[in-house]
Amino acid sequence: MHAFFDIHTHHPTGNPGVSEMENLRFGQTPSGKTQHYSAGLHPWFLEASELESAKKWLDQLAAMPHVLAIGEAGLDKVCNTDWALQEAAFRHCIQVAETMGKPLIIHCVRAFNEVILIKKQLKPVQPWIFHGFNKHPDTARMLLKEGCFLSFGAALLKPGNHSAEALQLTPDDRFFLETDDAAEIDIVDIYKKAALLRGVSLEQLKEVVAGNVRNVSRES
Ligand SMILES: [Zn+2]
Repeated sequence: MHAFFDIHTHHPTGNPGVSEMENLRFGQTPSGKTQHYSAGLHPWFLEASELESAKKWLDQLAAMPHVLAIGEAGLDKVCNTDWALQEAAFRHCIQVAETMGKPLIIHCVRAFNEVILIKKQLKPVQPWIFHGFNKHPDTARMLLKEGCFLSFGAALLKPGNHSAEALQLTPDDRFFLETDDAAEIDIVDIYKKAALLRGVSLEQLKEVVAGNVRNVSRES
């Protein structure tokens, strides 16, 4: 029996049978409910005066074996954070992911082209996982064509959301599932909906996602 992997959560539950990757940003302490973390410089919470200390914090955490991924990190055109500061932090996270050999979990809002441009410049070898994917299938196709991974969450449960169609066109080896900041949503319900959308059994889906987690992480 495979676990239900929740690769990106801000509210781990500690529920048995669920393997959760808790996301940490600079200044946050772990909940203690899980053994696995991602750590990154989130574009919403950057302060120019703190960037150097935030980078040092990340460098230290990234080297720890229980930190399985770097992120969330990325670019967000809707938040108020200065663009140059966002890009500096994002580029640092990319470099840390490459140095440590860990996947990068990406927060991207209306900046898909900018993120992909950076990917083309830097040619990273680590997996880039666009988390909380809830966009149109065309955006999914573009990201998949660039070799990226997609992680789907609560949007799948919303009637009429484009992400259902996007999940259906995503190959078996390129997706993950997550609860993100939706504390009220159970990862098991996201798995159930995803299994329905992909026309597979819950057990088959668990096996596919577990295989993807194995492929992109050094541990587990
Ligand atoms: Zn998040």
